[in-house]
Amino acid sequence: MSVQVARMSGMKELVKAINFACVKHTDQRRKDAAKTPYINHPVGVMHILCEEAGITDIPTLMAAVLHDTVEDTDTSTQEILEAFGEEVAGIVKEVTDDKNLPKAERKRLQVVNAPHKSEKAKLVKLADKLYNLRDLSKETPQGWTEERVKDYRLWASKVCTGLVGTNSMLEGNLQAELASHGVKFPCPEK
Ligand code: NDP
Ligand code: ZN
Repeated sequence: MSVQVARMSGMKELVKAINFACVKHTDQRRKDAAKTPYINHPVGVMHILCEEAGITDIPTLMAAVLHDTVEDTDTSTQEILEAFGEEVAGIVKEVTDDKNLPKAERKRLQVVNAPHKSEKAKLVKLADKLYNLRDLSKETPQGWTEERVKDYRLWASKVCTGLVGTNSMLEGNLQAELASHGVKFPCPEK
């Protein structure tokens, strides 16, 4: 395959993934007062990877835009596998929590499992946490106490500490974001 044909097919796959995520997240909203369309988040995660981390690897960008489809919509891993192939489905699976588990256990497992993820899954996780932390800084989600926001920042720092060594740009930006709220990253408690 020539470079140009490969580029075209990568572009087509990426656009297909963006469209798939748009359809799946259609009725969902973020937790801010304005109820921002949920799709802004997966697209924003993909944008962080591209813009701030210089990532142009198509499967990574596709997994970024698809990263919450299995966890937060009726999408199955099988559906992702059939539409986008093994590599993308694998990354999405790696960044998907098992919703059958209690929330506290899911959060604990994110910390424990972070260091064992693949490089591409680590990139998606770093960008996902960075996006959410920035969202929290813009506005406290409805119904959240300051304590809950603080707990989220501390937990996110612990998860991302297990991802250190993946991308210096993302890690630097996470450090700056957390430091502006007095949270250490990497987390000394780990
Ligand atoms: P949640 O998991 O309930 O919410 C955070 C998630 O919501 C993010 O990871 C993000 O997920 C998504 N999200 C949607 N909109 C926003 C937004 N505007 N800003 C940020 N995130 C958004 O939070 P936690 O359970 O982690 O709560 C934090 C702490 O509070 C925990 O330590 C927990 O123990 C505690 N807690 C307290 C409760 C209380 O009522 N006081 C109840 C529950 C937890 P995604 O990437 O998928 O979009
Ligand atoms: Zn997410």
